[in-house]
Formats: sequence, structure tokens, C-alpha cells
Amino acid sequence: MHAVGIVAAAGSGLRLGADIPKALVPLAGRPLVCWAVDTLRAGGAAEVVVAVPAAERAAFAAVLGPDVRIVDGGDTRTASVRAGLAAIGQDADVVLVHDAARPLTPPAVVARVLAALVDGAQGVVPVLPVADTVVLVDDDDVVTGTVPRAPLRRVQTPQGFDRATLVAAYAALEDGVEHTDDAAVVRAAGVPVTTVAGDERAAKVTVAHDLEIAELQVRA
Ligand code: C5P
Repeated sequence: MHAVGIVAAAGSGLRLGADIPKALVPLAGRPLVCWAVDTLRAGGAAEVVVAVPAAERAAFAAVLGPDVRIVDGGDTRTASVRAGLAAIGQDADVVLVHDAARPLTPPAVVARVLAALVDGAQGVVPVLPVADTVVLVDDDDVVTGTVPRAPLRRVQTPQGFDRATLVAAYAALEDGVEHTDDAAVVRAAGVPVTTVAGDERAAKVTVAHDLEIAELQVRA
């Protein structure tokens, strides 16, 4: 099965407090995007396409090397993944869409996603249970209810899809509709999405504290 990875790396470093794109922020001396690409490869992706901020192509090319295809990302994650998808050839059977912001995702997670696709799933996401109690609040931040947490899952990446299914789902997406992940895009097209076990180490680096945790993880 020919698997191609897409790394969504076109986000800003705003919430991280960085003045460079988040994907270029170093973790143990290497940009986050390099970790993400390595994970996809180690887990079974034969090729990797990276969607980057258009103005930063040169900086990404300098750290990624010649084996990676770079495309201009968009203003939203949905637009960036769409751009990556457009660069993938029809010889790809499956696509693994990964966040550059999840640098320490163990390759075993990638392999689990791929194995589910080999078993015939059209869409696969790695998930973890929710440990905290989850509540609803109103506009005044007053708690209005508790959400039963047993059926809740936190969704990670890489998310795996049959290539033709993902292409069709993105093509069917109405202009201006944005989703925070790709499972939501294919589900909107009526495609079932199955789950495999995620991993706490695949946590997303969003704020400075997340990067500190990631640095500790690398050292450990
Ligand atoms: O902003 P957030 O952390 O949710 O972004 C998740 C991933 O999507 C990040 O790896 C980020 O680089 C990517 N992204 C993108 N294009 C955007 C916004 C986010 O590729 N316009």
C-alpha cells in the first residue's frame, strides 16, 4: 500500500509566542516540522508533502532537504491540507495527514493508522480518552451542565484516509467551510471514520508550556 504523508505546517507561532512559524520553532535543536516528517517516514509513509506559509518557503526548504515536497499552505488548516492533497499523485493509495505541531508522535501511532487502512477502513483517527470532567458554561461562564465523558475522545494526528475518499470529501466541501481536522471533512461527506489508540506523546504543541514538556520528553 503506497502511503503519502501531508504535514500541515502553515500555522503561525502566535500562541507559542514565537516570531517565526510554529513549525520552524526548534525542539532539541531541530524544527518541529522535521520531527513530524521523520515520524511519518518511520511509520510507513513513502513520500511526504509539507504545506508551509507561502512567504517562508525558502526557510522550510533549507531545513527539510530535497526529499520533501513543499507546497504553499493557506489561511486555514483546511486550505493547507487541500493544497497538500492537490500535490499528491494518483499512485498514492492512502494519505496520512499530520500536524507539524505534534513532533513527538511515536511512529507506532502512524503504523496503527496504516494497519487500519490496510484492513479496509476509509478513515482512521488516533484517539485518547478524556480524563477531566467536561462541563458546559453559559455566556457568563456559569456551569450549565456536565457532559458524560465516557464516549468522549481527544483526536490526534496522523489521520489516515483512502486517497480517493479524502480527495472527494475535500472537493465536496463548500467554500468557506472550515474544519479543525480531516476526519470532520470526510464525515461531512458521509464517510465513516474509525479509531485506533493514540499516544500522550503525540500531544500538540500550542503554547510555550507544551514546548517545555516536549523538551523534557526528548531528554527522557
Ligand atoms: O493552529 P493549530 O495548532 O490547531 O494547527 C494545527 C496544525 O495545522 C499545525 O501544524 C499548523 O501548522 C497547521 N496549520 C496549517 N495552516 C494554517 C493553520 C494551521 O497548516 N493556516
